[in-house]
Amino acid sequence: MPVYEYYCDPCNGIFEALRNMRQASEPSPCPVCNGESQRIMPTSFSAFTFRDGYPRRIPDKGTYWHLGREVKNPVTGAVRPNEHPEINKPEPAPTLLKGDAEVQREQRREQAKAMVAEETERQAAIQAYERRQASNPKPADV
Ligand SMILES: [Zn+2]
Repeated sequence: MPVYEYYCDPCNGIFEALRNMRQASEPSPCPVCNGESQRIMPTSFSAFTFRDGYPRRIPDKGTYWHLGREVKNPVTGAVRPNEHPEINKPEPAPTLLKGDAEVQREQRREQAKAMVAEETERQAAIQAYERRQASNPKPADV
């Protein structure tokens, strides 16, 4: 049996019902108020009933519809256009392969070694300069 969509005016909501084709155009009882609801054209691309400005479906599970996908929360904060935080999960940081991690560690070790060497060289230069200063006092100091 195909699924058809019906619209309940008092509830201002859409629901789906499995019915055989002969019954399809007959009104279907609303799952909320049991009122007669008329069949409507599929709303997949144009939900026209809203809750808090978002498409709503009945039975109302308290969920919202975002670009045809069911979500628990409406978009409230700033998001990129046509995205929803529940649907477009941020991409996880890429996991490094064992070899890549080893290469990165090696690079960091090399960087640290280079920094230590640079600092040792600088200290040596300062000491050499100080020794030169001590053994050759400027003429003004004499
Ligand atoms: Zn109803």
